[in-house]
Amino acid sequence: MTKNTKILLIYTGGTIGMVKDYESGTLKPLNFGKLLKNIPELYQLDCEIESVSFKKPIDSSNMSPEHWVEIVSLIEQHYQSHDGFVVLHGSDTMSYTAAAMSFLLENLSKPVIFTGSQLPIGDLRTDAKENLITSIQIAALREKGEPVIQEVGLYFEYKLYRANRTTKINAEHFEAFASLNYPPLVESGVHLKVNYEYLLRNGRTKKLHAHKQLDNNVVILKLFPGLNKIVFQSILNIPGLKALVLETYGAGNAPTEAWLISALREAIEKGLHVVNVTQCSGGSVIMGQYETSEQLQELHVINGKDITTEAAITKLMYLLGSQVSPKLLKTIFETSLRGEMQ
Ligand code: ASP
Repeated sequence: MTKNTKILLIYTGGTIGMVKDYESGTLKPLNFGKLLKNIPELYQLDCEIESVSFKKPIDSSNMSPEHWVEIVSLIEQHYQSHDGFVVLHGSDTMSYTAAAMSFLLENLSKPVIFTGSQLPIGDLRTDAKENLITSIQIAALREKGEPVIQEVGLYFEYKLYRANRTTKINAEHFEAFASLNYPPLVESGVHLKVNYEYLLRNGRTKKLHAHKQLDNNVVILKLFPGLNKIVFQSILNIPGLKALVLETYGAGNAPTEAWLISALREAIEKGLHVVNVTQCSGGSVIMGQYETSEQLQELHVINGKDITTEAAITKLMYLLGSQVSPKLLKTIFETSLRGEMQ
């Protein structure tokens, strides 16, 4: 890290920059200038920091694909002039945005680190300062003239994860995220411990391709005992629906009832892409391991393996937006594009 290392801070909103509205008692996003005044420590860091902010910072519950494209465009615009990017984002939907970013930024060879906090930066007990400062330090890490991190990461509570492997697991603890199917890329203790063997390395040979088309004719359906035929059929028949992420039980299992299998068969024959992901937080879909997933396999349901639901839905939006041929979508989905699955 040197003062020559330039980091761009992109502020989208989230608790990190919120203040309490005294009238309503709710937390609302603050403007960026005020946010930076709360962190004089930033100026002690051994890198140059520039910042840009969403015109209107948002609670991440209001994030949308249009906002994702705004972040992609900001990164694309500043890609040559900056060595790394830190995106400040609400934690509620951070895993979705960060996973989407991993797909949209093809051939990324610089760090894009998402972070935020559970308590506002102005709060005495805030987790925001550590998250922000360490994220910047990680984004600025360089070895032999190359950035150490060359992918989209998510830093929270002393750990940097591969972003598209994460899920928000806790609304109370400072340790708000987990990556149950992939180890942390960096652990922050007295020193920053980089787990080199787990990093994606793209090198600089290929040019960044910033994708901006997403197709959100997609839906997530979590199976539950008692799901009835009318509800299930209605979801499969939503006008314009192109893809469904089906959160199944355990290792990818579903009821074997004839109505469910024939509804799925009909929808798949009509062109609906169905992805099997497990509703367990960790582990993988293994179609064919149990009798209860055999029929899904016979229907050529797409195998989501150990992908998170967040990565599955954003990968679908990206692939559909990229006009991937329907015949190839299954094969491409089942291939790891950015280290998001086995
Ligand atoms: N509601 C907030 C958001 O996601 C929570 C947070 O930032 O942690 O924007």
